[in-house]
Amino acid sequence: MNRLLYILMLLSVFQTDHYQTLRNDMVRTQLEARGIRNALVLDAMRKVPRHQLVPGNVRHLAYEDGPLPIGNGQTISQPYIVAFMTEAIDPKPGMKVLEIGTGSGYQAAVLGEIVGEVYTIEIVEPLGKKAQRDLADLGYKNVHVRVGDGYQGWPEEAPFDAIIVTAAPDKVPQPLIDQLKEGGKMIIPVGPHANAQELRLLEKRKGKIRTSSLMGVRFVPFTRDSVKE
Ligand code: SAH
Repeated sequence: MNRLLYILMLLSVFQTDHYQTLRNDMVRTQLEARGIRNALVLDAMRKVPRHQLVPGNVRHLAYEDGPLPIGNGQTISQPYIVAFMTEAIDPKPGMKVLEIGTGSGYQAAVLGEIVGEVYTIEIVEPLGKKAQRDLADLGYKNVHVRVGDGYQGWPEEAPFDAIIVTAAPDKVPQPLIDQLKEGGKMIIPVGPHANAQELRLLEKRKGKIRTSSLMGVRFVPFTRDSVKE
């Protein structure tokens, strides 16, 4: 066989292994060590190539223990926060999940590995379009991206088994509460500014909402107009 081709193939195998090792380490030291137990979440995060969803200039930091800039003033959450929020909605195969704040598409891909269908909305057009392309390239046929204001949810596809919001509004948008199924869960950061946000879990039972506050967090603001660069 062509020797060059053989060497290139070997190199690409090592490269894949390298990222797989980084992901396995990330799951062990950042997630399992901090109490993430859901096997579906851990498996998904061992699988999704986070380095292929972040911009090239921060690719080498993709599996570090922190958030990263993704352009247009936005950030991709720390892996632990993604795992924590995914675990909190108790994702199961066959579920239909709405995400507000597509960003890089990473959270959507993690959901896409576990649940049936993912609907995700991004207000910053270049980010939404890039995530749509990247997710398609990675083969996530069950992740549907829309560019627009997530405040109104995705009425045509409602109701949802679960909703994950990854930008922080001052209060929980009523349309999202309305689009949650009976028995459904929503996880959302709420608060006026980055220093005073709390991550809340809402559960709809017999039409009523039960809310618990899980921890203090820092998310980018939930905006209502198209964000300018
Ligand atoms: N889940 C993302 C993290 C994105 S950060 C990931 O895994 O990479 C939050 C995102 O929410 C930003 O991209 C921001 O542009 C977007 N956002 C803010 N307000 C929004 C709104 N009203 N509707 C939809 N997206 C919004």
